Amino acid sequence: MNTNQYRALDRQYLWHPYSRHSAIQENEFPIIVRGKGIYLFDNEGRRYLDAISSWWACNLGHGHPHLVQALTDQAPRLQHSILGNLSHPGAIELAERLCRLFPDKRRRVFFCGDGSSAVEAALKIAVQYWHNLGQPQRHRFVAFSNAYHGDTLGAVAVGYLPEFHAPFQSLLFPVFRVEAPFCGLCARGLQPDSCGQACLAPMAAVLSSHAAEIAAVIIEPLCQGAAGMRVYMPECLTKIAALCREHGVLLIDDEIAMGFGRTGAMFACEHAGVDPDIVCLGKGLAGGYLPMSAAIVRAELYETFADKPADHTFYHGHTFAGNPLAAAVALETLRIYAEDRIVQYARKAGEQLQAAMAPARDLSGVHNVRGLGMLAAVDLVDCNGQPDIARARRIAAWLLKQGVLIRPLGSVVYLMPPLITPEAALVQLAGQLRQAIAENV
Ligand code: PMP
Repeated sequence: MNTNQYRALDRQYLWHPYSRHSAIQENEFPIIVRGKGIYLFDNEGRRYLDAISSWWACNLGHGHPHLVQALTDQAPRLQHSILGNLSHPGAIELAERLCRLFPDKRRRVFFCGDGSSAVEAALKIAVQYWHNLGQPQRHRFVAFSNAYHGDTLGAVAVGYLPEFHAPFQSLLFPVFRVEAPFCGLCARGLQPDSCGQACLAPMAAVLSSHAAEIAAVIIEPLCQGAAGMRVYMPECLTKIAALCREHGVLLIDDEIAMGFGRTGAMFACEHAGVDPDIVCLGKGLAGGYLPMSAAIVRAELYETFADKPADHTFYHGHTFAGNPLAAAVALETLRIYAEDRIVQYARKAGEQLQAAMAPARDLSGVHNVRGLGMLAAVDLVDCNGQPDIARARRIAAWLLKQGVLIRPLGSVVYLMPPLITPEAALVQLAGQLRQAIAENV
């Protein structure tokens, strides 16, 4: 099939996630047939640097020979077997390895499929935990404005973004929505080094008045991703955790986007010295090869789910939870992280990325140049200071022609390349983005 035939069939039969009909009808989107390292290749042999790590999942790039080997070794052995009253070595070893990544290793791993399903499990675990303790009135959540935790209904309730989720508002349970920190563009006009985290006062007030009804606070650590890479200081997360402790409320840390080295630490919560009650992992967990996610829960919580004397079993589960193929790739992913010192490299290379993006500050219509580890973002504004979404789209189209794949979030243009991107390629990528911004005014 040639490119036009692929596109015609696609336009007839496929429904693309987060894609406008007009974009699919009007744009000459690439047909990706191959991936190698930091690049994707289309059916005509054109190469694209995957500057978004394929929706932030492919931290080790594409076609990693050891991950391919892990998958091909596992495939003939056992492709699937359930975790309901059964087990298999991959899930057992992976659960142990994951728990060892946290300061308090006495944890339990509840495997799910996509990130959203790990968030759903985390929310339900928090609610049932209080139910198990005889406090069923503690079933409400505190969440930030501009949060995003996935697209299933529970995740949408806590991570509501009006531009995505308005049609579903009637289906969502109410949450306590509080002001989120956003240090680069502080809504209060304060400076991060002297603000005393004043933006967390609304969260503190809600916890003071309503702790008796609240099951948990849920956050994206250090950066609210989907709402536009809204980066905040680790001190804020330290304070959020302290507030949760003070009011006896659980903390759910959604590391689905920021975990696995993106911020220059294995998990973003490490920057804040926080060991959350429940951690959600997804995306990079299985190296970006297969859907796999997990809610990782402190042992004290797990213990309340016993079935004796009363039955507190967690009646929740997904068919492919802990899938052996995904588990094999995830184990190999962790092995590569340790052997190749991926997080240490991401921290160092991230500094190069930030330095290479810094000159973007001088470009017209560019605001709030910011970054965190292997993530860099800028806001585009028009001459009236309004978000310039059209310019962001032009920049993405221009870069695609240059062989760089990005996906702006509204007027926010960002880079989240694979963590293995060589430093020279990072510097070149930042240069290409700066040039794209300069040439598309
Ligand atoms: N939480 C966060 C912080 C995310 O960024 C995402 C996805 N972008 C999700 C949850 C949902 O993950 P998934 O798309 O795999 O369901």
